[in-house]
Amino acid sequence: MINGQISFWLSGPESPTPPPTDQLLSDISVDVAIVGGGVTGLWTAWALSQAEPSWRIAVFEAERLGFGASGRNGGLLSSKTVGSRKVLAKAAGGREAVMQTEKLVETAMHDVVNILGADNIHAHHGGWLQVARTPSELARLRKGLQGQRSWGIDELSLRLLAPDEVTERIRVDKPLGALYSPDNYAVDPARMVFELAKAVMALGVQVYTNARATDLEPGALLVAGRRVRARSTVIATEGYTAAQSRHRRSVLPINSSQLVTEPLTDAQWDEIGWGGYESLAGAAHTFFYSKRTHDGRIAIGGRGHPYRFGSGFDTNGIVDPETVDDLMSVLSELFPQISVTPAHAWCGVLGVARDWSPFVDYDRGTRTIRVGGYVGQGLAAALVAGRTCADLLLGRDTSYTQSPWVRPMPRRWEPEPLRWIGATGIYRAYSWADERERRSTAPKTSVLARIADKAAQR
Ligand SMILES: Cc1cc2nc3c(=O)[nH]c(=O)nc-3n(C[C@H](O)[C@H](O)[C@H](O)COP(=O)(O)OP(=O)(O)OC[C@H]3O[C@@H](n4cnc5c(N)ncnc54)[C@H](O)[C@@H]3O)c2cc1C
Repeated sequence: MINGQISFWLSGPESPTPPPTDQLLSDISVDVAIVGGGVTGLWTAWALSQAEPSWRIAVFEAERLGFGASGRNGGLLSSKTVGSRKVLAKAAGGREAVMQTEKLVETAMHDVVNILGADNIHAHHGGWLQVARTPSELARLRKGLQGQRSWGIDELSLRLLAPDEVTERIRVDKPLGALYSPDNYAVDPARMVFELAKAVMALGVQVYTNARATDLEPGALLVAGRRVRARSTVIATEGYTAAQSRHRRSVLPINSSQLVTEPLTDAQWDEIGWGGYESLAGAAHTFFYSKRTHDGRIAIGGRGHPYRFGSGFDTNGIVDPETVDDLMSVLSELFPQISVTPAHAWCGVLGVARDWSPFVDYDRGTRTIRVGGYVGQGLAAALVAGRTCADLLLGRDTSYTQSPWVRPMPRRWEPEPLRWIGATGIYRAYSWADERERRSTAPKTSVLARIADKAAQR
């Protein structure tokens, strides 16, 4: 099994070739400097250059294209809620603005596929399932569905499936029910970043790789030892923001692990179904998410060690063997009828703001935007955020700029060791809660999980 090498999507046997990028060899001046070559930075460049083709726009990526979460994620492109509705509804626009922004995310989900091309990014429109396998998980899904209805989410967008409806789609072992939504595409993350980079470069944007910004002074950046003068700056460094001085506690880099199996045989696919390429997630507190890949493997993510002391990062996605075992045991619990072999495991960081909700923080004085904080729902959100950044810099008043995402970055995370104790303690409490719930026939959520929810302030 391959471990690390950033991700299977970037270094697997059929990974796409990255488009040629620029190297920064001299000082430059641009209209907009974008720091971070993930989907947020690239969609921002795309939206800006569509609207203002005459602007000189440059994207600076410290490593290679897709080095961050954008090249390592699960490839589930959905219109699920990004952040906390309750938190975002406290903004001036209230509940209406929250739901209006969710519509923008839904539109963005389809736009991503239409703009980049379904075949180019191996997109399969299959919806998503969140399956319950214990009475407490089912009770939580029911309660969650009631909550969704109170926000106006109808039967067409989200419904509860009976056990036989679940197994008609995916033959998971002993499901008790599942939430189902048609709003999801399974995509190939590396193809998505590369196609987007190509689209952006075709619009005239300079995309620099191996171009780390070491000084983020507004208007005057230092990138790979060169001076970059910019009228406006967008900082789209998501989980890696924690490496910047003055921002070590702004965004928590939460680790998520992934694994793909060796390709399944046709007989194995016949055993488990999954002909619709739905994304499949669990309803346990220690969450998993998975999909059928374009080349006939199962990709599964979640578990693992959620946080490294001092907001640390992985080395090229190397994952610990315990996490691989954990993910494999989730697969054998879900599909005891088949035996699968792990082929490649890796991990990456996603960005979490203190109130678990996204932000597009625009300092009009310095014309600097900091953007991110989508937790694990960044693929459609990044296009919304990119369009929002563009409208803000262009001085437009639109549904994007009126979104509750446009707000100052939330308050900072706690200093160490509190941050480490909190993050690891909460995750451990969720694991214990899952174990208790698995042994119980009661539909009650474990008190441990409720305490952990309170502590996490989710
Ligand atoms: C394992 C995993 C699974 C996930 N699964 C899903 C999923 O299935 N669906 C979904 O919607 N979301 C998922 N997410 C979240 C999603 O991938 C992210 O929200 C999204 O990719 C964020 O994009 P971004 O461009 O903001 O950040 P990133 O992709 O992290 O990009 C930030 C970039 O900034 C660069 N950078 C950092 N510092 C500097 C600097 N000083 N100078 C220049 N460049 C710098 C980094 O190298 C990095 O490439 C997952 C995330 C992970 C980690």
